Amino acid sequence: MIINVIFCSVLFSFLYQISTFSTLSIRRLFKRSQCDLCQKVLPLYRLIPVVSYILQCGRTHCCKQPLHYSYFVGELTAVVIGICLYHFDVILDDTTFLLLVLVLLTLAINDLVTLSIPLHIIVIAVICGVVLAPFYLPQFFIITFVLHCFFLLFKDAIGYGDILVFSYLSLFVPAPHLLHIFMITFILAGIIGLLHWLIHRNVQAKLPLIPFIFLALVITSFNIIPF
Ligand SMILES: [Zn+2]
Repeated sequence: MIINVIFCSVLFSFLYQISTFSTLSIRRLFKRSQCDLCQKVLPLYRLIPVVSYILQCGRTHCCKQPLHYSYFVGELTAVVIGICLYHFDVILDDTTFLLLVLVLLTLAINDLVTLSIPLHIIVIAVICGVVLAPFYLPQFFIITFVLHCFFLLFKDAIGYGDILVFSYLSLFVPAPHLLHIFMITFILAGIIGLLHWLIHRNVQAKLPLIPFIFLALVITSFNIIPF
């Protein structure tokens, strides 16, 4: 379990760090982590996910500035996934599940914070997935085509980033499982959207969808709800 927890949190931390890059180069992937605010290189013992955030009371050690809550939320979620993976079986094989869930967690945190997604993370995720996991090319082309037609017809109903994320999932997730992810995503988003409207009465408010896709992937993969 300890290995699962360390692996999930460190890999998420790495992906999230890459997602903040404005430009991507191979050299940057191997550079040491830097403080977001003063760019000072961080010592290795300050890079322990969750623990470093708590010990530093949510502040950077170098320049004493507040760290964004997204680091803590993402790393803690990755730790919970690592623990769940030890205790429960998943429908997908472990490599596919870990890749998808950590990439979606990274995209979900970005969507929550910026209402956008870093495209280079999807490109890296597709390359890693094609190398490491089984993939379904014909299904990917069909579903991606249908999703893009839907987007062209109903542009206001869904963001293009969400279409890209569903298309990405369709490359690695079998169609029946993907259908469950669709259903759970829109059920959860519908409930939260309705609650948000009841509380704020703001029709214009945009709801980030990728956190719901992430939750739907976790719920359907761990088979918490029997389908
Ligand atoms: Zn600093």
